[in-house]
Amino acid sequence: MSPVAKEMETGDQTSKFAFFEAHPRLAQALPRVRLGLFPTPVRRLEKLGRRLGLEHLFLKDDGVSAELYAGNKVRKLEFLLAGPVHQGAAELLTFGYAGSNHAAATAVYARRYGLRSISMLLPQPNAAYVRKNLLVSHASGAELHLQPDVPRLVAATSYQLARHTLERGKRPVIIRAGGSSPLGTVGYVAAAYELAAQIDAGELPEPDVIYVALGSMGTAVGLLLGLRALGLTSRVVGVRVVDERIANRGKARRLFEKTAALLHKADPSFPALSGSDMDLELREEFFGGEYGRFTQSCRRAVAAAWEDEGLVADGTYTGKTLAAVFADAKAAGICRSRVLFWNTYNSRDLSAITRDVDYRELPKPFHWYFEQPVQQLGAGDGDAASS
Ligand SMILES: *Cc1c(COP(=O)(O)O)cnc(C)c1O
Repeated sequence: MSPVAKEMETGDQTSKFAFFEAHPRLAQALPRVRLGLFPTPVRRLEKLGRRLGLEHLFLKDDGVSAELYAGNKVRKLEFLLAGPVHQGAAELLTFGYAGSNHAAATAVYARRYGLRSISMLLPQPNAAYVRKNLLVSHASGAELHLQPDVPRLVAATSYQLARHTLERGKRPVIIRAGGSSPLGTVGYVAAAYELAAQIDAGELPEPDVIYVALGSMGTAVGLLLGLRALGLTSRVVGVRVVDERIANRGKARRLFEKTAALLHKADPSFPALSGSDMDLELREEFFGGEYGRFTQSCRRAVAAAWEDEGLVADGTYTGKTLAAVFADAKAAGICRSRVLFWNTYNSRDLSAITRDVDYRELPKPFHWYFEQPVQQLGAGDGDAASS
């Protein structure tokens, strides 16, 4: 057995995976590499709850979903990397904005299996975490490309695919932006089963409402699908932090339907849910009009979460999600509800990886991010110190 196959096998035996226990045939049908530390912890946010007038505010902390690079991409990559690793792929190609957590996490975990990742990236507003992710990707051996707009990104991708296929004799495996293919989304279906087990164990009450950031949508849609498959009725509020063309109801419905079909086909004990069961609540008013642009309400929420709970939030995803919790605490009559905030942002320290990397080793177009000022997030910016 190859060392990689061995690791996959032994990894699966080290801890229980509630999803596969509920639907055993999925364990056979869906290979998974072990990257994360599950279940991730839940805790009550007592002080922040008091500040907001919420009687029952809880945290599900995927910020510590892995030892190395944590956050929400870990659950998706466990499924997304298994195929390429098994088939002996050499290269992966994925997409994102310059500071993409997904691209950085993919680079980190691809390298663990001896794969190289190629990131096709688009510009975004500058921030400390953008620098951090670029350095992490570079230190992990990723090949980074920046293009000014989508048409040029598409053209550059065709070129890179052709070039790499010629050079390696093998086409790189494409991983969708944010990892939100149906297969990546399965990672968050499984997360709902993990949460249900924690509810059963009395670690938290069944939430009335769950707040989660909405980007490429695999996280929110997967969670929702898992909850509905289990017969749980918690509302899921997806706080949109990307352009409406990327995250919208129609796309959410299709992703829900495709993921449900994949799972039902692999194991008929997983219910055949359809797009009409997709009852995600989309929230638009915290986006602020531009991906990665920090808003005032987001800054205030990040600072409060840090001050009250030592919780590190970011300005692109979780800060805007917290801003929705803050606003609803005031206006939407959720003060007696059981509210769960799902943290999706990596809170592991990555300075050991980035410390010795000189940004000038990166391709020229990325130097801008290190030479121009960053947006300030304010108190609670866990990434500010490293920039
Ligand atoms: C990618 C990301 C999200 C959004 O998850 P999607 O599955 O893309 O909707 C939320 N939070 C953080 C920190 C992320 O990196």
